Amino acid sequence: MTGSTRKIDEQLEAASHACSRSNTQLTELRRTVLGLVLQAERPLTAYQLLDRLKETRRGAMPPTIYRALDFLLDNKLIHRVESLNAFMPCEAGHHDCAVQFLICTECGQVAELEDRSVSQALDRAAQAAGFRPSGTIIEIEGLCAACAEA
Ligand SMILES: [Zn+2]
Ligand SMILES: [Zn+2]
Repeated sequence: MTGSTRKIDEQLEAASHACSRSNTQLTELRRTVLGLVLQAERPLTAYQLLDRLKETRRGAMPPTIYRALDFLLDNKLIHRVESLNAFMPCEAGHHDCAVQFLICTECGQVAELEDRSVSQALDRAAQAAGFRPSGTIIEIEGLCAACAEA
């Protein structure tokens, strides 16, 4: 077993425990889909995930993957990166919606930041405009450290 396979197994185990604590169940299908998201080298779209799922579940259909992804989103195990329409694992575990994504336009890697001062500043600005924000998700495009160096 490679180091990364073991890490993914540990993440799946942790996700399974988190689900039972919140009285939901990480079924075998949901666990498989979460495993695909964790194994991916970069965020994948639902259809890319469906293609990978079909390698082990030939009968998998779009609703199969969408239902599993909805469950994983609801339980904060994964994130949807809106501008890519793609899914990535949540690196931080359970947290609220104050997240920033750093999207590399060169290699497609996405890193997750959770800088509260950024989201609080935006919330204050929105409130000053009479707007009541319910969540702040920011997607920043650019070059990751590795690509910027190359
Ligand atoms: Zn996260
Ligand atoms: Zn990059």
